[in-house]
Amino acid sequence: MKLILLGAPGAGKGTVAKLLTAIDGSVQISTGDILRGAVQAGTELGKEAEGYMKRGDLVPDSLIMGIMEKRLQEPDCAKGFLLDGFPRTIPQAEELKKLLVKLGIKLDCVVSIDVPKDVILDRLCTRRTCENSACQAIYNVKSNPPKQAGLCDKCGAKVVQREDETEEAISHRLATYNEKTAPLIGFYKNEGQMLSVEATSSDAVIAAVKKELNL
Ligand code: ADP
Repeated sequence: MKLILLGAPGAGKGTVAKLLTAIDGSVQISTGDILRGAVQAGTELGKEAEGYMKRGDLVPDSLIMGIMEKRLQEPDCAKGFLLDGFPRTIPQAEELKKLLVKLGIKLDCVVSIDVPKDVILDRLCTRRTCENSACQAIYNVKSNPPKQAGLCDKCGAKVVQREDETEEAISHRLATYNEKTAPLIGFYKNEGQMLSVEATSSDAVIAAVKKELNL
């Protein structure tokens, strides 16, 4: 499948993407994971992105388009991909449209995951992430804590609160989402590619996607 996953921070895009990859081997492409990996590795890209990310601001569209143009041409994308956290602005969506035409790729649909704001806030404040950039497994102190406190079940690295998951940065990320990313819902409705799912459970989102794509 070739899908875009849209939704506010904390809507569950990453979790849904991971569940979908298990269905047909499509790859999850998370621009947030790629950027955090670059920050941790101290690359040029990471140095450029770090300040924006800490504040909860979006990194410039040109940086993101550079990453995605390369990423979409890697061989593993041939099987399908789930775009998680990209596009995030109307200019990114317009650039992506051109890029897909250039690469001869057709999207199946755009899935918008709609979760109430109070659920999102609670989730983000209690979310913890494995600090190993090759893993980045996600936990929740209330609903899904690691078996051994503070250590990742999968790789044993430390499980931490992301720097952009302080209360201040979270409210800034949500405001940025409403201003810059929410308009993409209208954009993709116009393109006739939108599947909106109101769901707080990832399983319900998976069921809706499977039904839409006849899987
Ligand atoms: P979340 O969806 O939980 O906010 P992500 O992991 O998707 O978190 O993104 C973390 C940060 O990385 C964002 O706050 C932003 O600074 C940056 N980022 C990720 N994807 C994009 C994008 N497509 N455009 C601009 N900035 C991005």
